[in-house]
Amino acid sequence: MADARYDPDNIFAKILRGEIPCHRVYEDAHTLAFMDVMPQGEGHTLVIPKAPARGLLDADPASLAALTASVQRVAQAVKTAFKADGLTVFQFNEPAGGQTVFHLHVHVVPRREGVPLKRHEGGMADNTVLAEHAARIRAVLEGQG
Ligand code: AMP
Repeated sequence: MADARYDPDNIFAKILRGEIPCHRVYEDAHTLAFMDVMPQGEGHTLVIPKAPARGLLDADPASLAALTASVQRVAQAVKTAFKADGLTVFQFNEPAGGQTVFHLHVHVVPRREGVPLKRHEGGMADNTVLAEHAARIRAVLEGQG
């Protein structure tokens, strides 16, 4: 089967265009980070490139470089904000790889010793809680955390 094409109407493209709201954590010229609405753990954050790409394989290497730098920056802030013992960072490609939203994104989940990850897309989190979590991470990034 031929590789599927990027769909400019995917949900993260709509977030990038401001057509759908998100709990924004970090933004620069090339990347955006926001809270996952169905967190697999408290503080589950997504980091995406602004350049269109379905996944790792079709992304421009320069975009990947910017994405990786933002993932590291956001991961450091998430770990501090949630006083995490560790982090799980993951990225899925195509349905067979577990992908459900077809704009490249990297998951960053703070982890505590002995606390398992919740199920992928297990349930919507409360908006007030997500807003508080985003504010907590932003405060660290802004040097107030
Ligand atoms: P996947 O494509 O399997 O890596 O997962 C997509 C992720 O996006 C899941 O963890 C969803 O909970 C998350 N998600 C889906 N829609 C939104 C949205 N509008 N805002 C934030 N996260 C979302």
